[in-house]
Amino acid sequence: MNAPRIDWHARAAQQGYDGRAFIGGQRVAALDGETFDCVSPLNGRVLTPVARGRQADVDAAVASARAAFESGHWARQAPAARKRVLLRFAEKILAARDELALIETMDMGKPVRYSQSVDAPSAARCIAWYAEAVDKVYGEIAPTPHTALALITREPMGVVGAVVPWNYPMIMSAWKLGPALAAGNSVVLKPSEKSPLTAMRLAELAIEAGLPEGVFNVVPGFGHEAGEALALHMDVDAIGFTGSTRVGRKMLEYAGRSNLKRVFNELGGKSAFVVFPDFDDLPRAARTVAGSMFFNQGESCNAPSRVFVHENVADAFTAEVVREAPKYQPDDPLGADTEMGALVDDGQLRTVLGYIESGHAEGARLVAGGLQARADSGGYFVEPTVFDHVTNDMRIAREEIFGPVLSVIRFKTEDEAVRLANDSTYGLQASVWTSHIDRAHRVARALRAGTVHVNQYDEDDITVPFGGFKQSGNGRDKSLHAFDKYTELKTTWIRINGA
Ligand code: NAD
Repeated sequence: MNAPRIDWHARAAQQGYDGRAFIGGQRVAALDGETFDCVSPLNGRVLTPVARGRQADVDAAVASARAAFESGHWARQAPAARKRVLLRFAEKILAARDELALIETMDMGKPVRYSQSVDAPSAARCIAWYAEAVDKVYGEIAPTPHTALALITREPMGVVGAVVPWNYPMIMSAWKLGPALAAGNSVVLKPSEKSPLTAMRLAELAIEAGLPEGVFNVVPGFGHEAGEALALHMDVDAIGFTGSTRVGRKMLEYAGRSNLKRVFNELGGKSAFVVFPDFDDLPRAARTVAGSMFFNQGESCNAPSRVFVHENVADAFTAEVVREAPKYQPDDPLGADTEMGALVDDGQLRTVLGYIESGHAEGARLVAGGLQARADSGGYFVEPTVFDHVTNDMRIAREEIFGPVLSVIRFKTEDEAVRLANDSTYGLQASVWTSHIDRAHRVARALRAGTVHVNQYDEDDITVPFGGFKQSGNGRDKSLHAFDKYTELKTTWIRINGA
C-alpha cells in the first residue's frame, strides 16, 4: 500500500523556523545580537532571522569544540560507543525526515519530494555508514626488524571546520560530519548563508542522540565573516570545504596565513557527457543527460553540463534531449509531482539568466527554454534550457553556471572528443556513451576526472569516493577514503629489548 500523500502546503503553514546558532550544546543568538534574513526562494518572503555569526561567535564555537575534544568524552570513547551514538543520530534524522525535508525546501527551493526521498535519507545513510565503519578500521604494524615494533595508527585531527554550500545542505554537511565525528573529532559547521536552517536542526538531533555537548557546533553567517574567521582560526586543525573554486583558493590562502591547517577542497565542475555514434540506445542517453542536468535545478557540482556528441547523431540526439526538457518545467516546490523547483535566490537567478544572455551573444543556438518562469510566485525559477552548436570556448561551455542550462558541442573524432572534454579547468566527473568495449575503456582512461561513468550517469553510493581532478579540488568525500581527511597518521616505535 502506498503511504498517504503529505499535504505539504498545510505543513508549511504550521512549520516554525529557528535561525539561532548551535554552540556548546544549545541554541544561542549571535553574541552581538545581529541577524540576517533567511529568504525563501519559493516566494521571496522572509522565513526567519538568522544569527549573523562573526569572529566572536566562531571563537566561542571553536573554544567549545576544543574543550570537548580535550575532555576525551567523545574522542576517547571506544569506536563501538561512538558508533551507537551516531546510529541513533541517523535514526533521528530519519524520524525527522518530513520536517527536515520541508525546512530544506522552504530554505533553498528544491522539490520537497526530493528533499524527502533523497536529501534527508541520504544524510542519514551517510552518518550511519561511517558509524558502522568506524569499529572495523584497523591500524597497521610495519615489517620492521625484530628489535622494534612500529605501530601505524590513525588519530583524530582535533577541531574540524566544515564549510558547506547551499545546493545539498544536509547531504554536504553529512559528508563532513559522518567521517569527522566517527573518527572522534569535534566539528564547527558553517552552513551557507543561503540555506542555513537544517544544519542547526541536525545539531539538535545529534545532541538528542547522545553526542556530548561541544562536539558539534553550528555557526551560521556570511562567508567573509563566519567562514573566513573559521578558516583563519589558529585553533582549527582542518577545514573540510565544499563550494566554489574561487573560495577554495581562498581556503588555501587562509591556511597559509594562519596555522597551515589541512585544507580539503571539494569544488566546482563542468562535467563532460560524451556520446559516440555507436551507442545503441540514444534515447536512454538523452533521458539520462536531461535527468542529471535538470535535477536539483541544475545546481549540482557534477551536473553533466557539457554534452559532446558526434556530428552524425547530433541532430537526432539533441532532438531527444529537447523532447525531454519540458518534463522538468519548474513548478511549485511543494507540489507532489514537481520535478524542478526554484533557484536558491535572486542573485543565482540573475547569474543564470546572464549566462543565457551570453549564450545568445556568443552565437549558440537556443533549442529549449531560456526564460524565467513562474515570476508571479515571487520566487526564482528558470526553464530547463538547452543550447546547441556551442563551442568549447564560449562562456557557457567554460564556466560553471550552476543552473538548468545544457550546452551541446559537436565533434568529429574520438581524439577530438577527448581533447575537448579535457579542455576545462575542472575535472569532477565525466561520462562516455559507446557500445564498443575498447572505446569505453580507452576513453574512460583518457578522461581527466575524479569519477568517470560508462553508459550511465546516475549511479551513486556512499561506498565510492567523490571528488575531483584539477581545479575541482583535492581529497575525497564519501567511502573509507574520507577518513584520510579527518585523521592524522601516527607512527609509534617501540623498542623490544633482548629480542
Ligand atoms: P561558495 O564557494 O560561494 O560558498 C560555499 C561556502 O563557503 C558557503 O558556506 C559560504 O558562506 C562560504 N564562503 C564564501 N566566501 C567565503 C570566504 N571568503 N571565506 C570563507 N568562507 C566563505 O559556493 P556556493 O555558491 O555556496 O556553492 C556552489 C559551489 O559549490 C559550486 O561551485 C559547486 O560546484 C560547489 N560544490 C561542489 C561539490 C563537490 O563535492 N565537489 C558539491 C556541491 C557543491
